[in-house]
Amino acid sequence: MDYSVYSGAFKFDDIETPLRTYLIIMIDFLKDKKVVVVGLGRSGVAAAKYASLRGAHVFVSEKRNFSELKDVVSQLQNLRIEYSFGQNDPQLLLNADLIVASPGVPLDICGFNDVRKKGIPIVSELELAVREIEKPIIAVTGTNGKTTTTRLIDHLLSSCGLKTCVGGNIGTALLDLINEANRADWVIAEVSSYQIETTPSLSPKIAVLLNITPDHLDRHISFKKYANIKARLFELLDKESYGIYNVADETVKRSVKKSAAYLIPFDATSKRDTGGWFEKGALWTKIFTEKASKWSLEGVMLKGAHNRENILASIITAVLCGCEKEKIQIALKSFRGLSHRIEFVCEYNGVRYYNDSKGTNVGATLAALEYFDEPVILIAGGQDKQTGYEVLIPAVKSKVKLLILLGESKLKMEKDLGKYTKTVLVDTMEEAVDIASQCANAGDVVLLSPACASFDMFKDYAERGDVFVRAVKKIAG
Ligand code: ADP
Repeated sequence: MDYSVYSGAFKFDDIETPLRTYLIIMIDFLKDKKVVVVGLGRSGVAAAKYASLRGAHVFVSEKRNFSELKDVVSQLQNLRIEYSFGQNDPQLLLNADLIVASPGVPLDICGFNDVRKKGIPIVSELELAVREIEKPIIAVTGTNGKTTTTRLIDHLLSSCGLKTCVGGNIGTALLDLINEANRADWVIAEVSSYQIETTPSLSPKIAVLLNITPDHLDRHISFKKYANIKARLFELLDKESYGIYNVADETVKRSVKKSAAYLIPFDATSKRDTGGWFEKGALWTKIFTEKASKWSLEGVMLKGAHNRENILASIITAVLCGCEKEKIQIALKSFRGLSHRIEFVCEYNGVRYYNDSKGTNVGATLAALEYFDEPVILIAGGQDKQTGYEVLIPAVKSKVKLLILLGESKLKMEKDLGKYTKTVLVDTMEEAVDIASQCANAGDVVLLSPACASFDMFKDYAERGDVFVRAVKKIAG
């Protein structure tokens, strides 16, 4: 094992003033505690830095080797932190007062069971952050649509003159944004199931639950367990808070039953009398005793039934935050969708190409297939998540004229879906795009929506999407 110790002393004077003041007031919580940070990703770095500045003895336990992480470690240079690289050392975990686990670390790794038996708390970086945030939090979760909805809520609130701070699963650890968060009117946190599982102090003023469909079953073992964790977000709400939820999703509907919050349901497919709904081509809301408000979708760039869920949840949130209706309606039109989510790439020879590389589970791929009326050539496959692909059968039967499969899961996907449409297996994205362009006729859509993670062949979903876009542009000249 590669075991290296950083002994550079931390300099109190190097810390910015608000944090220094805060440190003096709050110094006791972690002072002299043994804190083990498991995993040195973005949130691990934030947690190690924070705990060290708070006077804890920080140990970082990371499976990867030091050589891969030199740059990351250099961000923590002046802090007193000890490192264990190459494997997770069970003894180190058992000696901890507190363990901060990164989102990517499964909670059933060797050693965590003994840790739990000993009563040592295992929390996320977000847990440390929410203890420090004094401003109201809007927490957004669901299997799909979290990032789109988090960004849209931010856009609506900012356009209406409110000061926001956005973090969490969306990319920036909230622990790195404490000062900004405490200066904002609202903190908007995208939260994943991993974070809900390990953030017991999370108590949002507003929570959004978009949908629950199978995902991450490689980690959560069963759909029931995964759904229970998502449901926990609403169990954390008190009676002063609001829970906005997708009533058209049966699992979501069951999940919110135990919540003490004021519940506001929405349905993006059909009419309702209260909450939010879709009727005659427009969105409607009726919250509390106000009369129903109509929201035009004309000129709104986010399209499709799945995006109506995201828009409804965002509008209701903005109304609860006190935004004016006219300003919300104007802001809806200036929100551009995000890259890699059913993103139009180009049209070539009458064929339209779309990049949905962020479609990393069956629910997202189903939403993408339902989005199109045209015949689809679907490029799918990647790292399997143990969810099975059968839910895609009806959409594949009715919409997919050719299924092109790549990545680790291609044989499994061929077994589940291959008999419902013409299917070919390929080794590279370039090969997939070549075959798609040769087989497509004018009026068809070529869609990358993998229904799988990207890590078998790419650094992440963004790299996978970029490789697809490059291959398409090469063909289209
Ligand atoms: P997340 O942050 O939950 O992964 P994103 O907004 O990044 O969500 O979108 C991820 C994928 O899910 C994309 O393929 C997108 O088209 C699809 N998607 C977005 N919103 C929804 C929704 N409400 N229901 C189903 N799929 C959705």
